[in-house]
Amino acid sequence: MTQNNTSAVKFDADLLKKYDTFGPRYTSYPTAVQFSSKFTEYDYRKELEQSNRDASPLSLYFHIPYCESLCFYCACNKIITHTHDRTIPYLKRLHKEIAMQGELVDGLRQVNQLHFGGGTPTFLSDEQLKQLMQVTGQHFELAPRHEREFSIEVDPRAVRENTIGILREFGFNRISLGVQDFDEKVQKAVNREQSIEQTQAVLDAARHANYESVSMDLIYGLPFQTVESFSTTLDKVVDMRPERLAVYNYAHLPHRVKAQKLIREETLPDAITKLGLLELTINHLQQAGYVYIGMDHFALPDDELVLAKENGSLQRNFQGYSTHADADMIGLGVTSIGKTSNAYCQNERFEGAYFDAIDNNHLAVFQGYQLNEDDQLRRAVIQDLMCQGILDIASIENRFKVDFQSYFAEELGRMELLMADGLVSVDERTIAVQALGRLLLRNIAMVFDVYSRLAVKQQFSRAI
Ligand code: SF4
Repeated sequence: MTQNNTSAVKFDADLLKKYDTFGPRYTSYPTAVQFSSKFTEYDYRKELEQSNRDASPLSLYFHIPYCESLCFYCACNKIITHTHDRTIPYLKRLHKEIAMQGELVDGLRQVNQLHFGGGTPTFLSDEQLKQLMQVTGQHFELAPRHEREFSIEVDPRAVRENTIGILREFGFNRISLGVQDFDEKVQKAVNREQSIEQTQAVLDAARHANYESVSMDLIYGLPFQTVESFSTTLDKVVDMRPERLAVYNYAHLPHRVKAQKLIREETLPDAITKLGLLELTINHLQQAGYVYIGMDHFALPDDELVLAKENGSLQRNFQGYSTHADADMIGLGVTSIGKTSNAYCQNERFEGAYFDAIDNNHLAVFQGYQLNEDDQLRRAVIQDLMCQGILDIASIENRFKVDFQSYFAEELGRMELLMADGLVSVDERTIAVQALGRLLLRNIAMVFDVYSRLAVKQQFSRAI
């Protein structure tokens, strides 16, 4: 395979199939599989005390789990309901949790980044969204508007006409639209029927309200997708010109994700077609002027993600690539995950348990993970490889006071195989991801993941 930022890629199918193994997407290291209930509310409170001493900026993630209908591919934590009143008891606890978490955070720490995810955040009424932002502003120091990166996931099928403009008034400046595929046959098979007009209407509203960035999510590997049909979808998306695109690989894991049992396996594209879809996506989007950031993400050349990649400040967090991932993240609502420099912490996954904890004046900590020194080191290595595409060995040695060659002797041995296949180049000073390796970042990262050898294949999706 050859590739630079704009030239077409041609895949070596045999080689790619060799690396099409199960593996994590490394939105965190260690991954959530390592989280344990041994990490308790007490541990989280202590972590927040340390995090206040470090005084890094803050990022808030809110999980709104409700959706009106079930998309069969969906692996998110969601509750399918038409009863909008169901949000009332949820918001009561969420407001209380915001107050409880806000009390633990040094009031001088500024919230630069905020994200509403789900589920479907716009399942909430405009008034509920407004109240949620007001309560947040009462308990956290929100950054001035020009320093904010406040984003929200929007389902174009379930958003009211004025909501996009209203959200802009509340301070949101980034919007992410779920699209997946415009092909009607694919949409029917996954139970997500969404017209181009619905998507275009939200996009127009976002442009009208001067959002700084619009992102669209697509998925390849869905039922009935062909290279031709997905090419038509990409044409339409490129015409709409969102600043960012995330094109995810569908992971069919029906033994883990109950909803996926509703997808008929025989309708899924085979491995060769999936490779063709990936090849098409990268070529099509690059030819249309998008830059391939890595791991499913594309952006227009003047987008912050591209600039961050160029100046070495790109990071990875639970939402994918980010320019603010060095911030400590506070997760609010069911299933949300927070992060400090030394730990991850996840809230209860079910409404009932979440309500009980908050009603009893406890934080809803369900599980978490405290990083040891080895985790910190490996996290830095994986982060550099996945975000910068190059690892400066001396800088890791200085930062962690290790001799890289001896500490990672086993890993460097395994790297030789990847080097022979053209995924990476390794010398005494650097490990550099090559063009082919950019498609297989998780395989490269897995070499440094001490836990991946223990992970069973059912827990992760395939690389391609
Ligand atoms: S894809 Fe989005 S809208 Fe569909 S069920 Fe999942 S969270 Fe809900």
